[in-house]
Amino acid sequence: MTQVGEMIRQMYINGKWVEAKSGKTFKVINPATGETVAELPDGGAEDARLAINTAHEAFKSWSRVSPVERSRSLEKAFKLMTERRDELAKLITLENGKPFEEAKKEVAFGAGYFDWFAGEARRVYGDVIPSPAGSRRFWMIRQPVGVVAAITPWNFPATMITRKIAPALAAGCTVVLKPAEQTPLTALAITKILHDVGLPPGVLNVVTTLYPEEIGKEFLRNPLVRKIGFTGSTEVGKLLMRGAADQLKRVSFELGGNAPFIIFEDADFDAAVDGAVGMKYLRVAGQSCICANRIYVQESIAERFTKAYVEKVKGIKVGHGFEPGVVIGPLINKDTLEKVDRLVQDAVKKGAKVATGGGRLKEAAFAKGYFYAPTVLTNVTEEMGVTREEIFGPVAPILTFRTEGEVIERANNTNYGLASYVFTKDLGRVFRITEALEYGLVGVNDAAGYGHETPFGGFKESGLGREGGKQGIEEYTEAKSIVVNLPQ
Ligand code: NAD
Repeated sequence: MTQVGEMIRQMYINGKWVEAKSGKTFKVINPATGETVAELPDGGAEDARLAINTAHEAFKSWSRVSPVERSRSLEKAFKLMTERRDELAKLITLENGKPFEEAKKEVAFGAGYFDWFAGEARRVYGDVIPSPAGSRRFWMIRQPVGVVAAITPWNFPATMITRKIAPALAAGCTVVLKPAEQTPLTALAITKILHDVGLPPGVLNVVTTLYPEEIGKEFLRNPLVRKIGFTGSTEVGKLLMRGAADQLKRVSFELGGNAPFIIFEDADFDAAVDGAVGMKYLRVAGQSCICANRIYVQESIAERFTKAYVEKVKGIKVGHGFEPGVVIGPLINKDTLEKVDRLVQDAVKKGAKVATGGGRLKEAAFAKGYFYAPTVLTNVTEEMGVTREEIFGPVAPILTFRTEGEVIERANNTNYGLASYVFTKDLGRVFRITEALEYGLVGVNDAAGYGHETPFGGFKESGLGREGGKQGIEEYTEAKSIVVNLPQ
């Protein structure tokens, strides 16, 4: 197995590496081989409570640290995370399965949130508000919300964490992080970076667990937690929102997606084919919330597109993440593998044709992992689950359309609203369609996704609030209006 220099196997509370109070542990599994990568503390409600109390104590001082000083800590974290890129990427490949080259890109991008929010820490502006009465003065200041409970998924084990903790720390909040049970090692390695740059004890705490419900319940019932920042499935997001209602806790949610990828006949053909391959297969084997979930191709170019697309997909190399040239690794676990296969088999039963792939990879090299063949489906209709549900795997359903109006309506006909993509050279259409699509992100002739500088988040059931951009830090603040009567 690939050796990782320093692998942290303990939770982090009040600046110390600790075991779970219960003494229990759980295993982190490599999805490519089924082997155990490490055993970690299986934390429970008591550990979460301790972490929350600690974060609450630390908030009293961290919220008063000058923004410049908080900014310096984040700058240092950016530098150290950049230096430790390959170490972190190894952990990601081991516990998540994504190819090492892709993991390195993720770490670099994830580190970028420390850089971006190091700047934003110094720009938490208020407002001076003109008062209608000469004897009164109004102004507004922004203050940190308090203790933040952050819950993150496994698909981007580094970025989903930095996109939350960087703005929270920048704003002056303290954090209790609960990383996904599949990928806690990356979370602990990022925590070590913040420990090494001298973040004061209690400002960031991490509780690892195999049973997220128990910790989630403590986050919801504990009044010291003021905000829940969650990235994960829409289902769990709704559950947390219901729970947060009792104390009206602040929430921001980044949830599931069902991204349409629309290609018009006037598009740059090669760019559209490459974009649709990249946005479908080359992000964690299709296990990304912004991956293309439905590919709509204008009828006149559908045959040519499908031929070129399938050709490219057949050339994709699947394998273990440390093998050179591999661009698709395994799916995260058995459940995901079975869900993907169920969607494919259901589509086939309802009339879809398998142009390539269509099943689990079972040859010797793949036997112990959760590998699925890159799959393209044609003859797809919107009655099939594969277009209605988030696939979260390397399966591309191709649908055809005739007119702009028709495809907009079909693209919007979903409860999700995270990312969407359009390939066209028609300028008028760019304006019409970007305004009409009900999505938090519209990529035009672009399949690279979002940047640190842009606000990221979903419409409808894809989320609440925004991460990144100048909006990202506001999510961790409260606006306080101050009204002063001048002495006469
Ligand atoms: P998930 O909802 O099962 O798990 C996400 C996190 O929530 C994990 O840390 C998990 O341990 C925790 N969790 C699960 N049940 C919980 C509970 N009852 N209480 C508290 N915490 C609980 O999702 P997943 O399968 O790990 O991740 C995939 C989902 O995440 C997909 O739907 C994907 O679209 C979404 N996602 C969204 C974004 C975004 O930015 N919008 C980014 C990445 C992933």
